[in-house]
Amino acid sequence: MRTREIRLALRPDQMPGPDTFELVEVDVGELGEGQVLIENRYLSVDPYMRGRMRETGSYAAPFEVGKAVPGGTIGRVLASRHGGLAEGDHVRSGLGWREHGVTDGGAVQRVDADAAPLPAYLGVLGMPGMTAYVGLLDLGQPVPGETLFVSGAAGAVGSVVGQIAKIVGCRVVGSAGSAAKVAYLDELGFDVAINYREGDLAEAVADACPDGIDIYFDNVGAEHLAVAMSQMRQNGRMVECGMISQYNLAAPEPGPPLWSVVAKRLTIRGFIVSDHNDRRVDFERDMSRWVAEERVRWRETIVDGFEHTPEAFLGLFSGDNIGKMLVRV
Ligand code: NDP
Repeated sequence: MRTREIRLALRPDQMPGPDTFELVEVDVGELGEGQVLIENRYLSVDPYMRGRMRETGSYAAPFEVGKAVPGGTIGRVLASRHGGLAEGDHVRSGLGWREHGVTDGGAVQRVDADAAPLPAYLGVLGMPGMTAYVGLLDLGQPVPGETLFVSGAAGAVGSVVGQIAKIVGCRVVGSAGSAAKVAYLDELGFDVAINYREGDLAEAVADACPDGIDIYFDNVGAEHLAVAMSQMRQNGRMVECGMISQYNLAAPEPGPPLWSVVAKRLTIRGFIVSDHNDRRVDFERDMSRWVAEERVRWRETIVDGFEHTPEAFLGLFSGDNIGKMLVRV
C-alpha cells in the first residue's frame, strides 16, 4: 500500500518555510506480528516541534532530517495483528505527519470516539491539556482568590490553564494576540483578557492585576515574562511552560538564557534570610561545630578607622574584600 508522509527536509535557521518540509509518497510497509496499520485522521502540530528541528537545544531528541516528522496523531485501525486492538478502533499514536503508518500495537492507546470528539484527544484531553493541568496545579499551586496571569491564553495549553484556574477559584487574566481571541477568553470566563498587540502590555497587566500577580503561567517568554516578573507578588510562582516568541530566533536574545529554565526543568527560587528565623537554632548548632572542626574556614578584610567606613562600604563594589568586610573602630 502506498501512502504519503511529510519529512523534515532541512534544519531551519529561523522561521521554517516551505523548503523545510518535503511531501513524499512511500510504501506503508508490512504488518508484522503485534502491529497495527493505522489511517491517521488528525495530526498534531505543536510549538515544541520547532525545537526538535534544531540539532541541539530542545529538551527532546532532534528530529531526523529526511524522516517523517514524528508527533501525536489520532487515527483508525485499518488492520490489526495485535490482540488488544481491532479494525475500526480509534487510537492515539506517535506516528506523526503521515497519512498511514504501521506501528506496534503496544505503542498506541485506544480512545473513545463516543466519549469525546476525536480532535479533543490531541488537545484538551491530550498532551496540551495535561500540560495545563500539571503545570498549573502541581507547579503553580493555585490557592482560591489568587490572581493568575497566563500568556498564550487562547491557545491549546493557555485556554485550559485559565479554565482550571477558574475551577480552583482564582482570578484569571489572560493575554492573546487578537480581538477575536480576547472575545473567546471572555466567553471562557476569564476575568480580564488583554490583546497584547494593542497598547502597552505592562500597563494593561497592571490595570488587570492591581494587587499584582500570584501565578504567572508563561507560554511566550520575552516581554510577557519581563512584564509578569516585574508585577509578581511576594511568594508568587512563575510556571515556565514555554517561550514560543523565542523558537524561531537564529540566536538567543541577550540576557540570561531563560530557555534553560524550561528545557532543564530549573527551579529559580528567591529568598530573604530573615524569613527563615525558624532555622537559626539549626544554623548555630551546625556552623559552630563546623567552625570548631575547621571544616568551614573564613577570612575577614578589616579596614581600620571609623572615618574609613564609607570607603570600606564602597570597597564591596570594587571587590576590595576577601571574606567578610568589617571596619575596626
Ligand atoms: P498554542 O495553541 O498556544 O499556539 C501557539 C500560540 O502562541 C499562537 O496561536 C500565538 O497566539 C502564540 N504566539 C506565537 N508566536 C508568539 C509570539 N512571538 N509572541 C507571543 N505569542 C505568540 O500552542 P500550545 O498551547 O501547544 O503551546 C503553548 C506553549 O506551551 C508553547 O510555548 C509550548 O512550547 C509550550 N508547551 C510546553 C510543554 C511542556 O511540557 N513544557 C508542553 C506543551 C506546550 P497569539 O495570537 O496569542 O500570539
